[in-house]
Amino acid sequence: MKLVTYSPLPSGQPRPGLLLEGKRIVDIPAALGADESTGSMLGLIRAGDPMLARLRELERKSGVATTPLAEVKLHAPIPRPTKNVFCVGWNYLPHFEEGAKKLQDDRKLPEWPVFFTKVPTTVNGPYDSIPYDSAISTSLDWEVELGVVIGPCGKNITQDDAMRHVWGYTAINDVSWRDVQRRHGGQWHKGKSLDGTCPMGPCIVTADSLKWDELQVTCRVNGTVKQDSNTRHMYFKLPRLIADLSAGMTLEPGDVISTGTPEGVGYARTPPEFLKPGDLLETEVEGIGVLRNPVG
Ligand code: MG
Repeated sequence: MKLVTYSPLPSGQPRPGLLLEGKRIVDIPAALGADESTGSMLGLIRAGDPMLARLRELERKSGVATTPLAEVKLHAPIPRPTKNVFCVGWNYLPHFEEGAKKLQDDRKLPEWPVFFTKVPTTVNGPYDSIPYDSAISTSLDWEVELGVVIGPCGKNITQDDAMRHVWGYTAINDVSWRDVQRRHGGQWHKGKSLDGTCPMGPCIVTADSLKWDELQVTCRVNGTVKQDSNTRHMYFKLPRLIADLSAGMTLEPGDVISTGTPEGVGYARTPPEFLKPGDLLETEVEGIGVLRNPVG
């Protein structure tokens, strides 16, 4: 099942929708009755399994009114998460190695996942532009990643139980201003948290509809493939990430975890490559869809 957050054109209010056959949208609050649980993607997620059952029933129903995808604006599926987007650093070995080589450090393979976060104002729509300000930095880089949306609340979640806490999956680009990332004492938070640097979408695919560990993840700049790998190559697998992140720290419905990027980022290339105004950044996760974000 695929779910989106959209606005009817030209000026409708954002609402959650059920995407049918990739081209038609069912207005969920209109179809199920407008209330707190149907008014937003976070409402749907917080309403848990009973809501998923209602949505599956709606998906099977015939004669439901739909709007063509071409007649709406898509937003990030969770346009404003209630807390920072959790991110994982160095979760594909070739990306770890390209970074170590480029920065000429003798880092050791991590025994524990590297976590950092992006503030909620980084979240950007699937087709919206990424702000560019050359007065701040000119080293804007790309990172295609599988995003995981948490469903049932949990703390101290075991690896065996971890997948029960996943509500769905989305595509994310952990867009990074590299020199800003490096110049603040090795703390990545600032360089990863500038406005609009977390394009997300175009939909959430519910956990029952996708096998998370065999998805091709691809990033293209102006049509040229820059990153092309598969989630089967993740170093720390999803159950381990959820177990470690939830140790002593509650994960809540609608929390988002971006699971790390494979090799092929711009800064590690020879010579280094960075995004410029006018470039088109495409972020694709198999089974979820493609984000198309112009720069500047
Ligand atoms: Mg990343």
